[in-house]
Amino acid sequence: MTRKSFPQQAALTTTTPCPPEKGGASSGNSESRAEWETLLTTQPRSTLKTHVVPAARGFAFEVKASSHFRIVDLHGQQVVDFMAWASPYSPSATCEHFSTSYTRYALGGLATPKVGECLYTNRDRKMFTLMDDTVKTHDLLYMACNPGFYERENQPGHRSCATNVAEAMEPWGMKHWSEVIDPFNVFQNTPYYTLKALNCSKPGDYLEMRAEMDVVCAVSSCPFEGEGFNGGKVTAVAVVLEIG
Ligand SMILES: [Zn+2]
Repeated sequence: MTRKSFPQQAALTTTTPCPPEKGGASSGNSESRAEWETLLTTQPRSTLKTHVVPAARGFAFEVKASSHFRIVDLHGQQVVDFMAWASPYSPSATCEHFSTSYTRYALGGLATPKVGECLYTNRDRKMFTLMDDTVKTHDLLYMACNPGFYERENQPGHRSCATNVAEAMEPWGMKHWSEVIDPFNVFQNTPYYTLKALNCSKPGDYLEMRAEMDVVCAVSSCPFEGEGFNGGKVTAVAVVLEIG
């Protein structure tokens, strides 16, 4: 199969994988850091901050243009719903945001962006470039789980990605889960979407992206444990941010 290529970004496909940090490295920290928490591909300029997002909870964060960040599956088999808006966020319909449909179009209708390819906004602008990916199976089709979804599943009041994101985005002015957008479902293998097994991510797997504009991002550790999703047990994830 072929994908629409981005020849102008060919150089990005040659980024070196992040090497594992040896135990007892010179940081002075007695606890050696996990591979996913070592320098991002922009090293050595990075100063990093790691946020652990508890199971079935959300987290929102800002990223400046050209900065990198990683979304990490700490325990494996955990889907992370990812959304983003151009900064500053506004609940107005005119606020530019990540678009699954523009991104699918850019990918030639195919599902998972590859390293070097981009995520796009609803104004057809590049929002993120994928810099590193240890899983290579993600979803651009499904919506975020939401209160209506769980009501239909006879689980009213269940936590959802939509409400997780709305809670996390409250400081930026989001008032209700209906303001969320369609997500990039990181580490999600939608059934029949690809040939890889459902929930194929392993502990420590990560996706690294570079922001192409100033953005406000939100993630949710997806609380849906039915039908084999999330390994049947929702777990914590992490976001590693480049802050300096
Ligand atoms: Zn969800």
